[in-house]
Amino acid sequence: YLIDKLSIKNDLSQEELEVLLTNLTEEDRDYLIDKAYEVRKQYYGNTVFFRGLIEISNICKCDCFYCGIRASNKKASRYRLSKEEILECCYRGYSLGYRTFVFQGGEDSYFSDELLESIIKTLKGKYSDIAITLSLGERGEESFKRLYEAGADRYLLRHETVNEKLYKELHPNMSLDNRKKCLEYLKEIGYQVGSGFLIGLPGLKLTDYAKDLIFLKKLKPHMVGIGPFIPHEDTPLKNENGGTAYDTITLLAIIRLLLPDVLLPATTALGTIDPKGREKGFKAGANVIMPNLSPMECRKKYALYNGKVFLGKESAEEKLKIENSILEAGFQPVLTRGDNVRWKRK
Ligand code: SAM
Repeated sequence: YLIDKLSIKNDLSQEELEVLLTNLTEEDRDYLIDKAYEVRKQYYGNTVFFRGLIEISNICKCDCFYCGIRASNKKASRYRLSKEEILECCYRGYSLGYRTFVFQGGEDSYFSDELLESIIKTLKGKYSDIAITLSLGERGEESFKRLYEAGADRYLLRHETVNEKLYKELHPNMSLDNRKKCLEYLKEIGYQVGSGFLIGLPGLKLTDYAKDLIFLKKLKPHMVGIGPFIPHEDTPLKNENGGTAYDTITLLAIIRLLLPDVLLPATTALGTIDPKGREKGFKAGANVIMPNLSPMECRKKYALYNGKVFLGKESAEEKLKIENSILEAGFQPVLTRGDNVRWKRK
């Protein structure tokens, strides 16, 4: 009954979500996934949008307990890409057909507004059919504005968890309030905004995600990134259990029903803990994949967690492999910008 209500109204209260998550039988879960699949088809057909991910720096001032590139991890071998290297990755990606580039990195003050503006403007001046997504952590309102005006289209900033106490414990010198404020600024400025949370952080039960889901429902982001927490050996959480593919897929399906038009990636972390995780994700409503366009020698260094799989490589052959596996799973790879249907640049 709750699954039908969710798929008809695209809404449930926190209590209802808790009940749904507590009582979900195997059979219910199959039904939930079928419903999510129907909704994804209605809004986006069978398409899977491709985004070229470029990991521009693993230098970070933050010290998030779960993250392999946290400032305190002295074992991490640090790098940052130059403007020329980033442009080179994009040029190569463009020639392979990519039309969205995602710049992700630690909070590295080397990437000033001026430098990012000049990279974004160079790319937007050269190509009229691309989208640029940034995922560079918390910045000031002015900075977000300047980067939007320079041509950035989207910003990914997961809220990670709405559990205040856990947020505090895991993010020294950071605050959930500021994270939320950043998300509000980004929306007001006009970005397509992505948020999301980690699944399987220590102490959380499946029902705890009802609060994260309600937060997302209120925020109405254009994109949602969720993925399992996977422990990294050089972090304080190295001995914890990670999140499961099973829970991640259940939550992907619920998010597809709560926010029917959302762009929803099947993340690298999901593909890392389950080799078929991404395909299962697409069947549960995910519709985005982010192959890696970073230079090969940096991939290992951008190690957020143990055993990260590298999807993409820079070659045409590798891209073809990904496309084929998507086709085999019954979906259609698409390389256009793939904006959220409700977004227009201000
Ligand atoms: N610094 C930016 C930020 O905070 O948004 C972007 C880079 S950060 C490494 C990107 C995402 O990686 C985070 O939002 C977090 O959810 C995820 N992440 C970090 N450590 C992880 C881990 N051990 N397992 C799974 N995901 C992780």
